[in-house]
Amino acid sequence: MLDVILCIAVEHDLKLVVLAAIICILGSWLSFRLFDRGLRDRGLITLGWNFLAATAAGSSVWSTHFIAILAFKTGAPVSFDPVLTIVSLLIAIGSIFVGMAATSLPIPFSAAAGGTLVGLGIAAMHYAGMNAYHIEGLVNWSRTFVIASVIVSIAASILALELMKRERTTARPEKAAGIFALGIIGLHFTGMAAMTVTPLVLRGMSVEQGSYLAMAMAIALACLVIAGTGLTSFVIDHRMRSDSDRKLCRMALYDSLTGLPNRPNFTDKLLAAIDHSNRTGEGFACIGMDLDRFKEINDLRGHAAGDAVLGEVGERLASLKSDRLFVARLGGDEFAVICRCMNDKLVFEDMMQIKNALVRPITLGDGTEVSIGVSLGAAFYPADAPDAQELVSRADLAMYRAKASPITSICFYDSCMDEVVRQRKALAADLKNALANGELELFYQVQNAVDTEEVIGFEVLLRWRHPVRGMVSPVDFIPIAEESGLIMDIGRWVLQTACEQASRWPNDLRIAVNLSPIQLSDPKLPAMVRMVLEETGLAPNRLELELTESSIIENRERTLSLLLQVKALGVTIALDDFGTGYSSLETLRTFPFNKIKLDRSFMNQIEESPQARAIIRAVLAIGKSMDVPVLAEGVETRSQLEILRQEGCDAMQGYLLGRPVPHDDIVASFGSGDEVGGRRVATLRAIIKTTAEPQVRHASLAS
Ligand code: C2E
Ligand code: CA
Ligand code: CA
Repeated sequence: MLDVILCIAVEHDLKLVVLAAIICILGSWLSFRLFDRGLRDRGLITLGWNFLAATAAGSSVWSTHFIAILAFKTGAPVSFDPVLTIVSLLIAIGSIFVGMAATSLPIPFSAAAGGTLVGLGIAAMHYAGMNAYHIEGLVNWSRTFVIASVIVSIAASILALELMKRERTTARPEKAAGIFALGIIGLHFTGMAAMTVTPLVLRGMSVEQGSYLAMAMAIALACLVIAGTGLTSFVIDHRMRSDSDRKLCRMALYDSLTGLPNRPNFTDKLLAAIDHSNRTGEGFACIGMDLDRFKEINDLRGHAAGDAVLGEVGERLASLKSDRLFVARLGGDEFAVICRCMNDKLVFEDMMQIKNALVRPITLGDGTEVSIGVSLGAAFYPADAPDAQELVSRADLAMYRAKASPITSICFYDSCMDEVVRQRKALAADLKNALANGELELFYQVQNAVDTEEVIGFEVLLRWRHPVRGMVSPVDFIPIAEESGLIMDIGRWVLQTACEQASRWPNDLRIAVNLSPIQLSDPKLPAMVRMVLEETGLAPNRLELELTESSIIENRERTLSLLLQVKALGVTIALDDFGTGYSSLETLRTFPFNKIKLDRSFMNQIEESPQARAIIRAVLAIGKSMDVPVLAEGVETRSQLEILRQEGCDAMQGYLLGRPVPHDDIVASFGSGDEVGGRRVATLRAIIKTTAEPQVRHASLAS
């Protein structure tokens, strides 16, 4: 060791030694960075990176060696063999390349084998270089130092490559480069210490040190140029990779349409918020939110309009002025918000801010304005839910409550909402057996002409006589039947039973049966209707099917073609609840309905509100222009009837004329009346009016 230190300190020009050390350290660092990059890929790409790394390593090792030789003060003139000098460079690059490529292989001991190759190669380069170095004097070699130098080279190379292969930290190239650089310096100076020179010529003939310095600088420069190529490739690759990493990261965590964080991002933030809350005791709110009327816009105006609306919603949500909020789009028109605050007043203010941002009209690309609404529901952590999943589902529960409410669009979770869900589940389970147990039955509500008040038919309304709950309203159980798919069997049963019952009536009064949107999505519907008519023998013109516009919106083309097939059987079709949902003239124009049923919500306002009356007048005008009769639902008072008469409405239905009553009551009324004209009507009405409908349980089960 002392010999080596003496060799460096006494026999070398220290300026050049420092230059060699700098080249060695920089070159090693760059080489192992490039090698590290190769290890992160596979196949040819790895080989490419190995080549760049080997070129940088080989040229810097070679330069280190040559500059250090130039630093060696021999005291005798020296010369270089150019061919052998170049060969020594190729040996360095070649062996390092093979060694690194071997190390990159996914096999055991690859780093040991690769390191041995690299170490041997560098030692070979050193001694080939020494062979190319002719000194005018006697040169003696110490075998011990030579062997030691080779061992240092191999050991350092194996250590460096093993570290690259095994360690998983980002600093592994730096650590490996440090070991490698020490190995090269160790090899060189141990190798130089192995050599003693006895000059054969006079001192004065030695080569001038100034020209050594110039040569050393030239070699260093050449090395830097070679290494610079590798460095440039590395920098370009690094930049491209971080750009694409950033893009990938954006794609993985953000929604491309709205630019808002997406569901996985939201889930991460939610878990982090829960974690933070568990550590600090500070709660927060999770807000579920759903756009109102979005589906309508998407269906009626196309997906481009839907996307434009979502884009605008995203922009408005992103520019909300509250740093408490983290807003994400979970999919479709469903959004969620984390509000880092447990004060319900402040959370409410934030919800109002969101609502106000979204209710402003949105201008579409073609200049038309659309307006959407939003329903928001909030649940608090940890007060309302023990974990992320429950928290989100309770915020959703509150949101659905807000959506169903006619008065508010903002709701906070309340534990009694769980009870509602539980009840719904219980009801769904009971409904499965209701049909088989004979718990379903049909009620009939009379429909009359407005001018003569003559009975024109009956609407068939389903009832569920629950063994424990009593009468359950269809408003509560039809949605459950639709969700579970039971509506198909139930709907068929309603049609079959109503046709059977009506076919036995002693007259040809008509029946109107309600169809669910789910039934209208079944291509076998026309065949089912035809079969029921055949089986029951009811004349097709005595059957009317009522459907709402939402059934058509789901799948316009298919539904309209199904309806035309049903119509071809001779059955008539009525458009139910007109004026509530979409109320598009387009629907009325596209499909030749036989009746428009004006929703009963208008009847409540007809006496006080001039607007409601204007709407009724407009609907009647549309009906007249298309030659489609209009039936007004929900007529409860004489004055409402009078107004309808003045406005020229065709037909009506409502508690004034009769509540829905069981089938037996209808049959009884037929028996007691004269079957002719006005008298029949009078008798019928008297009977039906006095028959009170049994109490229908409206449990607050609406979702
Ligand atoms: P809808 O088709 O609009 O039926 C009319 C509803 O208005 C009936 O409620 C009826 O009892 C009620 N009604 C009639 N006259 C008046 C009135 O003067 N004032 C007030 N306030 N209400 C009146 P119901 O029987 O509870 O039926 C509710 C809904 O359930 C129906 O609305 C219909 O959408 C659905 N539904 C009923 N039966 C069936 C069925 O067999 N199949 C399907 N898919 N849906 C059905
Ligand atoms: Ca109806
Ligand atoms: Ca209706």
